Formats: sequence, C-alpha cells, structure tokens
Amino acid sequence: MTGAARVGIGYDSHRFAEGGPMVLGGVRVPAEVHLAGHSDGDAIAHALTDAVLGAMCEGDIGLHFPDKDPRWKDADSLQLLARVMWLASERGYRVVNADATVLIERPRLRPHVQEMRQRLAEVLGVGVDCVSVKAKSGEGLDAVGEWRAVTVQAVVLLERT
Ligand SMILES: [Zn+2]
Repeated sequence: MTGAARVGIGYDSHRFAEGGPMVLGGVRVPAEVHLAGHSDGDAIAHALTDAVLGAMCEGDIGLHFPDKDPRWKDADSLQLLARVMWLASERGYRVVNADATVLIERPRLRPHVQEMRQRLAEVLGVGVDCVSVKAKSGEGLDAVGEWRAVTVQAVVLLERT
C-alpha cells in the first residue's frame, strides 16, 4: 500500500427499536430505544470502521464482519474497530485524526460526547484531542427527525508509521 497519508470516509444508519440503552461511540446512553442490528448497533463505531477500511481500500465492514456470521451477533462494535485498527497497523499505518457527525433527534448526546471521544481515542490509538464527535438534530425531517433512526458520517486520516 502506498501513500504517506490516506483519507477514508464512512457512513452508517440504524433504525431504533424498543428498549434502551443505546450504544453509541462505545458508550451506553440512557434512552427508551436501542439501535437495531446484528451487533450492538453502534453506528459511530461502524462509520469509523468503514472510514479506516476506506482509507486502506480494504472494502467495508460487511465484508470483514458479515452479519450472517454468529461471531458478530451482539458484538461490541469497538472490538470490530479494534480489529480493523490492527489491520491498519499491519499495513504500516496509524490514525492522525478522526471526525464524526451524528444526526440524531433524541436522546441528546452532548453530555456523552466527551466519554465517546475517550473510548474511541483508546481504540484508534490517538489522543482524545484527535477524535471529534459532533451531534446534530434532524430538524424534524426524515427518519432522523421523526425519531426513528440515527445516521453517522465519519472521516479518518491515516499516516504511514
Ligand atoms: Zn452499523
């Protein structure tokens, strides 16, 4: 793999389902709903995982962690991100910084953002000042605004070790 620095983009969305808590950014956020999915539904971890894979042109999260594989049922998504970070280190890359935007109507994420940044920074192998998580409301529009889903966009920059 070539390039002194490589950028990747990730996107993920999950439907809400009855009963909390909601796992986002590796943090259990108190809520009346959780994120439906084969794993714990952590859309921030999934978007970041796709961004790291994208930077390496290594496909996507579904290729590496198929949702038909019982190993990933109810998986801690930070563990999936950690596996992809191991792959990045094998390829000779480390994270420079990561930035994620979460579109969610409720619950309010701001009180949990600092803890999310800390959890994600540990897995990405960087300082907390290199991981950004920004939460925006859906402004009443679409599935996000109708409190039916969350969507996340993320970018990650890798550099050669
Ligand atoms: Zn996902």
